[in-house]
Amino acid sequence: MTEIHKERVIDVHHWSDTLFTIKTTRDRSLRFRNGEFAMMGIEVEGKPLMRAYSMASANYEDHLEFYSIKVQEGALTSRLQHIIAGDEILVSKKPTGTLLWDRLRPGKHLYLLSTGTGLAPFLSIIKDPEVYENFEKVILVHGCRYINELTYQQLITHELKHNEYFGDSVKEKLIYYPAVTREPYINYGRITHLLQTGKLIDDIGTPALNPEDDRFMLCGSPSMLASLTEILDDLGFVETRKNDLGEYVIERAFVEK
Ligand SMILES: Cc1cc2nc3c(=O)[nH]c(=O)nc-3n(C[C@H](O)[C@H](O)[C@H](O)COP(=O)(O)OP(=O)(O)OC[C@H]3O[C@@H](n4cnc5c(N)ncnc54)[C@H](O)[C@@H]3O)c2cc1C
Repeated sequence: MTEIHKERVIDVHHWSDTLFTIKTTRDRSLRFRNGEFAMMGIEVEGKPLMRAYSMASANYEDHLEFYSIKVQEGALTSRLQHIIAGDEILVSKKPTGTLLWDRLRPGKHLYLLSTGTGLAPFLSIIKDPEVYENFEKVILVHGCRYINELTYQQLITHELKHNEYFGDSVKEKLIYYPAVTREPYINYGRITHLLQTGKLIDDIGTPALNPEDDRFMLCGSPSMLASLTEILDDLGFVETRKNDLGEYVIERAFVEK
């Protein structure tokens, strides 16, 4: 257990019967970069039961935050969804990941495309002042099935704008684009459809997508990633590989078993 910190749950917020957020203490020695993920979980019968989780809190915050699905048959989340303030959770000491802004070639517009809990890594990225220093526009797209899954809107559309250090950059640069696929909504349809039809860029007023100016981070289901990378590849965007910086990076929001 030496590679694992024990943290105390400070707060649990249930967004719906499928989504919740856990806020915990943070060991002062834990270092990570915004966009990375750690292994997180609980002890079950004396053994750690852990899964990959994106850091939803920023790397300078005193607490840790995790944004989680509730899978009723899931080994971890069938239990984790019952956690309450005061309980203990386990967090690995060495977060890692590919959703890092400096793993992209310099560009003008940073598109953060997420579905479901794929929003989690972007919650730390949109709190990162360096991201606003390095891009002219930061476009956060969150695709969900239902309107009640469009979580964190208060943070994204209000609280960040009033941040005393980078609130002005958020007001000037952050564009939030929520989209829904299974009930009527102003932005209706899959992200792939919104990109291919040009609706997304028409709505937000950015130029046609081009590899010179646009950078992408993708986080969602394996099928969402497959469709979006196909679209980007067709448009001439190149994925970052090891030391070769490209125009997009991807991370799976979960693995299909
Ligand atoms: C790099 C990475 C980062 C991740 N970050 C997060 C995160 O921030 N928040 C989070 O909730 N999960 C995240 N996951 C998924 C997470 O690791 C677990 O799969 C999830 O907690 C469910 O665990 P489980 O043991 O209850 O069920 P599992 O046995 O792990 O999963 C059972 C099934 O549930 C579905 N499923 C699992 N996770 C999700 C999900 N997030 N959204 C939709 N369907 C899902 C899949 O079909 C999967 O086969 C991440 C996964 C990876 C690979």
